[in-house]
Parts: sequence; C-alpha cells; structure tokens
Amino acid sequence: MSPLELNLILLGPPGAGKGTQAERLREDFPLAYVATGDMLREARNQGTELGLKAQEFMDRGDLVPDEVVIGIALERIQADDARDGFLLDGFPRTVPQADALDAAMADLGRRITAVLLVDVADEEIVRRISGRRVSKAGRTYHVDYDPPKHAGRCDVDGTQLVQREDDKPDVVLARLRKYHEATSPLIDYYERQGLLRRFDGSRSPVEVHDHIRATLATLRLEDEL
Ligand code: AMP
Repeated sequence: MSPLELNLILLGPPGAGKGTQAERLREDFPLAYVATGDMLREARNQGTELGLKAQEFMDRGDLVPDEVVIGIALERIQADDARDGFLLDGFPRTVPQADALDAAMADLGRRITAVLLVDVADEEIVRRISGRRVSKAGRTYHVDYDPPKHAGRCDVDGTQLVQREDDKPDVVLARLRKYHEATSPLIDYYERQGLLRRFDGSRSPVEVHDHIRATLATLRLEDEL
C-alpha cells in the first residue's frame, strides 16, 4: 500500500454534516468519494433493479439489506479512481458491513487510515434535517444555516431545491432510531481497532473541517515516522 494512501470512513448520525465535510475533504485530498446513499438514490432514479430493490427501504427510513449495499460499496472501492484512497460516507452502517469491509481490505492488502466520527445530539439533527434542501445534482443547502442566494434555487445550476422524501420529520426519526440501533455499535467497533477519531459536529462546518485536517496531518506524520 502506498504510504500516502488515505482510506477514510465518515461515521455519524444522519444530518451531522458528513456530506459537507466530505465536500471539503475532497478539495484537500484526491479521494474517491463513495456515498452509498447517493449511489442508491441514483439507482432508484434510473429505475434499475438495484434501485427498485432499495426504494421501499429508503422511503421508510430503513436500512437497505446488507448483501445489497456490501456488493456496491466493495465494488466501488476497487475502481481505478479509488486506488490511491477513498472517502466512505454512509458505509458501513452495520457490524456485518464493517466486517465485510475489513475482510475485503485485508484481501486487497490495504487498510483503513481513520474513522472520522462527526457527532451531534438528536434534537439538533431534527432541526437541521427538517430545513435541508437539495438540488437535482445533489448540492445541499439549509433554509436557515446555509441558504441559497435566491430562495429555493441552486446557486450553481439554478435548479429548484427540494426536500428529500427521507428528510421529512417522521422518516428522520425512523432514521435516527436505526442509527442508534444498527450503526452506533460501530463506534466501539472502530475504537477497539484504534481507528476512531471524534469530532464535535455541533461546531461550525469550518471548525469541524479544521479539526479533521489537523487530525489527518498528525496521522500522516505518525505514518511517516
Ligand atoms: P444517506 O444518504 O447516507 O442518508 O442514505 C440514504 C438511505 O440509503 C438510508 O436511509 C438507507 O435507506 C440507504 N443506505 C445508504 N447507505 C446504506 C448502508 N450502508 N446500509 C444500508 N442502507 C443504506
């Protein structure tokens, strides 16, 4: 494995700002961005078999079955553009997914560099997600915290901003329940492997980003020693 290869996992509840941090990290490092939620939404929009299978789970805020998600995520991290590093956002979300990732990484002779936990309290998440709006291309805004220049329109391509079906309040609560039940055990899982780094997601996106960068710089220095 290249000593400079960065293989990162973003962990945290829905609405913690993982997507925003991912955008910034991709400006800092040449990382392939692997967001299983985006991949599943795209498949759903295109009406593929995978998309149809995933749709009913996604619409009610449930997790898509492990075998479906593991297949697409593991294939993606082996693509050419992910060879020098990747940033996983929204995967793994269960212990079996994390086990499958560990096994695949061992087979490939690669390793996870760090797991970045961006944590935020549930009440704050509900506030954030209910104001979240997205453009057709997936650019994210918030009606109060990060509004577009013209209400309801994307700054970049001018398309109309919409609320994701699974950002509606009852679905958000279901997603949070799922997070605590199925995904939060991964915090201990990666802590035990010595990979977990915690970030306070209630801070501003700039502060969280600065903190992540500082942490990654330290990790890379340690790697070079
Ligand atoms: P996200 O955009 O990451 O919030 O994902 C949106 C939805 O896609 C989730 O609520 C799940 O239904 C599904 N999904 C995305 N990633 C996974 C995963 N790793 N495991 C199971 N379901 C997933």
